[in-house]
Amino acid sequence: MKTFTYRTAAGVADGLEPGATFLGGGTNLVDLMKLGVATPDVLVDVTRLGLDDVAELPGGGLRIGAGVRNSDLAADPRVRGQYPVLSQALLAGASGQLRNMATTAGNLLQRTRCRYFMDATMPCNKHDPGSGCPAVSGDHRNLAILGASPSCIATHPSDMAVALAALDAVVRISGPTGERTVPVTELHRLPGDTPERDTVLEHGELITAVDLPPLEFATRSTYRKVRDRASYAFAVGSVAAALQVTDGTVRDVRLAFGAVAHKPWRASQAEEALRGRPATRESFLAAADAELGAARPLRDNTFKVALIRNLVASVLEGLS
Ligand SMILES: Cc1cc2nc3c(=O)[nH]c(=O)nc-3n(C[C@H](O)[C@H](O)[C@H](O)COP(=O)(O)OP(=O)(O)OC[C@H]3O[C@@H](n4cnc5c(N)ncnc54)[C@H](O)[C@@H]3O)c2cc1C
Ligand code: SF4
Repeated sequence: MKTFTYRTAAGVADGLEPGATFLGGGTNLVDLMKLGVATPDVLVDVTRLGLDDVAELPGGGLRIGAGVRNSDLAADPRVRGQYPVLSQALLAGASGQLRNMATTAGNLLQRTRCRYFMDATMPCNKHDPGSGCPAVSGDHRNLAILGASPSCIATHPSDMAVALAALDAVVRISGPTGERTVPVTELHRLPGDTPERDTVLEHGELITAVDLPPLEFATRSTYRKVRDRASYAFAVGSVAAALQVTDGTVRDVRLAFGAVAHKPWRASQAEEALRGRPATRESFLAAADAELGAARPLRDNTFKVALIRNLVASVLEGLS
């Protein structure tokens, strides 16, 4: 592993060192350092900034500190009661030990599990821009079907981020030029010609919190994940959903898909197609088709289109 310096930040301003790489629980970053894929010069540990509370917002909703551990967030009674989709998504990820370490910000910013990205000896436009994308003709069974480009077909691996996208969460950021907020749905980028950039964060920007706006019908929400093993495996496809039905008609809905794109995929077209429609399997399938019409699967991941379509119908039927 390359030599680096390490220090603990005492406060947010103290952590904003130019050129520094932030260290959360380290469960992704340290792995990538051992593999030689991440080679930071300066590591700033941001787990002691006091950003480890879940607080109620004055107008309703919750503010989740960037350092809140995944286990603590999943177990928070307010999250479990008001936003079960988030608690379920967290509990579907990784293992108990990993969730005890992993932080909210680190989970959002974890990097793709594309096998070529994680192998520093392979060409990969994400870790070595301009070197090519071997996944397009190689191993892409678990890679993107939506929003990909010829430069990169990676998927974002987080379960939590899919739930946050469905819930319209907002990321709070501190940086050298001040503070700003970005909706979670706009935090991660599509790859385009610059897949080396996962997000819209600028160098030195620190995530300080994630705000969950109030959403009454999120009490009826759920997360369903399909994976190759029953536990300790990343999603092959997943759906986060919240549904409001009155007299058999869909009044409102939130839908997001995981493991299908370079970002958690908010299914806005499916939502649009569903509002005001009868809450039936036919409507749910038609809504999924409205979103998946844009899918461009490759040789070995065509199955994901049917997988997500069926998941959408099954999850929404369960919430009806
Ligand atoms: C075996 C295994 C199985 C897993 N299975 C799953 C799974 O099924 N589902 C799933 O969702 N995840 C899974 N994970 C991934 C795991 O959830 C992530 O590794 C974890 O959430 C990352 O959080 P962390 O705090 O450890 O981040 P770190 O590894 O510390 O950091 C990750 C990235 O975030 C940046 N960062 C950290 N904090 C901040 C901040 N405050 N502001 C700006 N940047 C910051 C770091 O610089 C780094 O780039 C798995 C991991 C392993 C090892
Ligand atoms: S899909 Fe993206 S991460 Fe994977 S090899 Fe291609 S460029 Fe690299």
